[in-house]
Amino acid sequence: MISANDPSLHSWIEINPQSDFQIQNLPFGIFQAQDRDPRVGVAIGDYVLDVYVLTQHRLFDMLDLEDPTVFHQPTLNAFMALGKPIWRQVRGRISELLRNDNPEIRDNRTLMAECLLKQKDVQMLMPVHVPNYTDFYSSIDHATNVGTMFRDPANALLPNWKHLPVGYHGRASSIVPSGVPIRRPKGQTKPADADAPVLGPTKQLDFELEVAFITGQPTALGTSLTTQEAEEYIFGLVLFNDWSARDIQAWEYVPLGPFLAKNFGSSISPWVVTLDALEPFRVEGQAQEPKVLPYLEFSGNKNIDINLEVTLQAPGLDQEALLCRSNYKHLYWNMNQQLAHHTVNGCNLEVGDMYASGTISGPTPDSFGSMLELTWRGTKPLTLPDGSERKFINDGDVVTLRGYAEKNGVRVGFGEVRTEILPAL
Ligand code: MN
Repeated sequence: MISANDPSLHSWIEINPQSDFQIQNLPFGIFQAQDRDPRVGVAIGDYVLDVYVLTQHRLFDMLDLEDPTVFHQPTLNAFMALGKPIWRQVRGRISELLRNDNPEIRDNRTLMAECLLKQKDVQMLMPVHVPNYTDFYSSIDHATNVGTMFRDPANALLPNWKHLPVGYHGRASSIVPSGVPIRRPKGQTKPADADAPVLGPTKQLDFELEVAFITGQPTALGTSLTTQEAEEYIFGLVLFNDWSARDIQAWEYVPLGPFLAKNFGSSISPWVVTLDALEPFRVEGQAQEPKVLPYLEFSGNKNIDINLEVTLQAPGLDQEALLCRSNYKHLYWNMNQQLAHHTVNGCNLEVGDMYASGTISGPTPDSFGSMLELTWRGTKPLTLPDGSERKFINDGDVVTLRGYAEKNGVRVGFGEVRTEILPAL
């Protein structure tokens, strides 16, 4: 059987070589169209493939799929709960149906019209119900930058950092998909020259360039996963913008860490790129020194080469300014280690949980994944193409994260997460 990742595969659908959604990708999402209620779709070129319609035409009858209504749901959770063998069968069958030598949809005009919709004609919704959200802090360049800025350049990393993947539990209820605006949050801050704190809109709104993975299988409370087992629980990945209010954060975070500076909103890309589709882009991570404890050891290449970028479009401009370019491969701690650590104490995973990487900064200043680092805490403002300056994010600004992997002429992309900032109420 031909792998769904084979670079030689071509579809009977015409796809721009620059499209994120080649036949080797086939990411899952939830869409809604004028003539149909929310359901599971797969992105292919400029189109969305209605997966539920395929089951109605009995095109999945040969799979071990007992209940096709998992595709007629407003989230991917029911489908994900079926487990990796079913995820693989479904992606493999969709790949087969879309190949240029397969006539099943290609030569059936009525079916084609029913199951293929233009992406521009549908609305993408939250792909999953997120019961729990954790944010890690796994980029060594980001942690070093922040430690240098706020503490001691000579001891930028705290003593625990190279021994465990640091993280915190975030807020799942305020995660929204691309296109949903975020309102500038109000909060308590304490200006440096003031004796007492004040309440008001944040003056230091920031983005954080992150990638999150989604677990599609639960674990029982009290059990732990090895780094090797961890991978069987990961369904796929999305782009993740962890909106942050730096002035609120600076005042509130001691001693228990992030709270209201983070939980007012996080934005994700709507297409979940499966871990399977990203396998060809695996790369080795940087050497971990000192040696990690045995439960965090792993074998094989566990980092993934995913190009990432952030742009900003100022109000009234039709041009996006590039803020940074980074790469998912820069992470010091990989997903396997993050999940093994998260469950080492018996904490249980749920279907749909989201685990974000932490801000992904690279080693060079143009690869820093937040305004905090790009402007070095506001001391070095960025100049936009219209001549205006930014230390942080303004009302009306549109921030967009994009990401794609590319190798052997095959591009597997995430699309984008695009968010407009609304003024505080
Ligand atoms: Mn973060």
